[in-house]
Amino acid sequence: MTIDQTVQQNHLSVRSRIYRILSDTEGTFSKKELAEMCGISMPTLHQNLKELIDAGLISYTDEWQHTGGRRARGLDIVPDARFSVGIFFNKNTFRIVAADLRLREMAYDSMPFDFDSCLEGTAPKVSNLLEQFLVNTSLDSSRLLGVCVAVPGLISKDQTTIEFAPTLGIRDFPLSRLLGDIPYPVHIVNDATASGRAEHFMRKQNGNMAYLSLENGVGGAVVINDSPYDGDHSRSGEFGHICVEPGGLPCSCGKLGCLEPYCSPNRIKTSLGISIDDFFKNVEEHDPVSISLFFDMLRHLAIGINSIRMTLDCDVVLGGFLSEYLVPYLDILRNYVLAGNPFEENADFVQFSTLRKHITPLGAALYYIRRFVENV
Ligand SMILES: [Zn+2]
Repeated sequence: MTIDQTVQQNHLSVRSRIYRILSDTEGTFSKKELAEMCGISMPTLHQNLKELIDAGLISYTDEWQHTGGRRARGLDIVPDARFSVGIFFNKNTFRIVAADLRLREMAYDSMPFDFDSCLEGTAPKVSNLLEQFLVNTSLDSSRLLGVCVAVPGLISKDQTTIEFAPTLGIRDFPLSRLLGDIPYPVHIVNDATASGRAEHFMRKQNGNMAYLSLENGVGGAVVINDSPYDGDHSRSGEFGHICVEPGGLPCSCGKLGCLEPYCSPNRIKTSLGISIDDFFKNVEEHDPVSISLFFDMLRHLAIGINSIRMTLDCDVVLGGFLSEYLVPYLDILRNYVLAGNPFEENADFVQFSTLRKHITPLGAALYYIRRFVENV
């Protein structure tokens, strides 16, 4: 059997491979190079390109490329041929984004959301907010791949239950009560996991990455060999509950000394009763009380980062609300990390996320985009 015959029998994967290359590279090569990259003949390539064009998923671009003396029209995916919706809510805010097939934001909205008050009737509320968003943005719902919802909690592997979401105050919460009224394919994901996957996708890096999200709930995500690593119980990347101070501050999980109570924005409010903006203004002005708390946060954050680095031996990327305030203090943080790490000569592996705006709902939207691209 020739390579081409094998490929013919596995038609979808060839289409998917062609589509993914076009998506990743934005069509910066000749058809001959594309055929070589896919390991297929030119007739097979042309057949697959025709199908993708007929389906409206790729098109010729206006740009002409020089390919060995000849000029050929470029090919690219049609990014808005489909779109995905990502939702992220916590106790008091509902955020929703529509993203095209390159995870570029098409529309975004956020609104107040009282999770407690609508606990019994959350499903119709979520569904109504979604429909309102689609109407307001005039997006064609026939192109909607699905809706993925990110929540600050642990999701059961069978997608039926939020097992534990301390910041929402729920445990063993049936997902049907949240998402049962949404008339599209629906999926749910942990918020920090979603953010980490979006960051990895946008970096277009090969390999491994640990994402540490510093929101009021501290969490993260692990990517190994470009694939999300969920763990046996979908609890990988729960970095917020690494113990950084045995017997220390109480955590939302019920234990003592976890990373979360040391490095979440809530700690500032709880300890000093001031806003995060005022806190960092005080730090800049060398207020001793704020400086003392800030260094304690960095010291414990460094312990957490080193635990992740020791375990996974990969870049540790910081994201989330608090991380944006830490950018001017990266060198100090890296020095704390180095002080507790016997193996490294520098701490360049501690980085900040590149995707700052709406990373969590975009990360949720990525779920259906990735599924589509892999099965196109
Ligand atoms: Zn904890």
